[in-house]
Amino acid sequence: MDKELQQKYLNEIGIVVWQERNFENLGNLDRPQISPKDSINRKELLNKNHNQHLLDLQEQVKTCKECALHQSRTQTVFGAGNTQSDWFIIGEAPGSEEDVKGEPFVGRAGQLLNSMLLAMGLPRNEIFIANILKCRPPNNRDPKTDEVDACRKYLKRQLELIKPKIILALGRIAAQNLLKLDIPIGKMRGNSYLYPNSNLPVVVTYHPAYLLRSPRKKRKVWGDLKFAMQKYKELT
Ligand code: SF4
Repeated sequence: MDKELQQKYLNEIGIVVWQERNFENLGNLDRPQISPKDSINRKELLNKNHNQHLLDLQEQVKTCKECALHQSRTQTVFGAGNTQSDWFIIGEAPGSEEDVKGEPFVGRAGQLLNSMLLAMGLPRNEIFIANILKCRPPNNRDPKTDEVDACRKYLKRQLELIKPKIILALGRIAAQNLLKLDIPIGKMRGNSYLYPNSNLPVVVTYHPAYLLRSPRKKRKVWGDLKFAMQKYKELT
């Protein structure tokens, strides 16, 4: 990535000092995309079966009533992005803007996440992003255990189909539920975990919405992102 451009993105997320890294080979911009609303561009599909399975799963999620959240949602938020990405970003649950737009990580937190990703050399269309829950909890409360358990199979299937090389978990709720660990996020940061029953590495950092409230944590997040990039480089 162009150094000036990277510095611009780092400035946007509040990091003004950075170490030079080689961000080459982080992905192919021509990979197929899935948009929020059943929108895989069929002409661009490299693997029809792979993407058809994702479309089928998306349809299944749209009509899901397996937990009480279906009663209050405007629509489901399946996830969006590059269906063949090496990077799978996982957040907590849709918020009010996501619930309206049907897309994960929109609004101010989404913009901050975009800048974080760009600082890593990863345009948003180069990663796949989804949440632990596909429906918004009322008043943005924390997900309940039974809701997470009911929804877990969809995320599991997304991971099986997309086959990322690395997961970046954003925030305590995502990290703890993904890894089934009850460890404070401050202690999870800086360590690499494995997604249960797999060799898929998981790196944990703070949620962008938390960073908006606690901007002094941005430097720690940049450290986490560099750790994730290093982990990725070791895998490829
Ligand atoms: S949160 Fe998940 S399990 Fe609950 S209704 Fe939505 S899609 Fe179904």
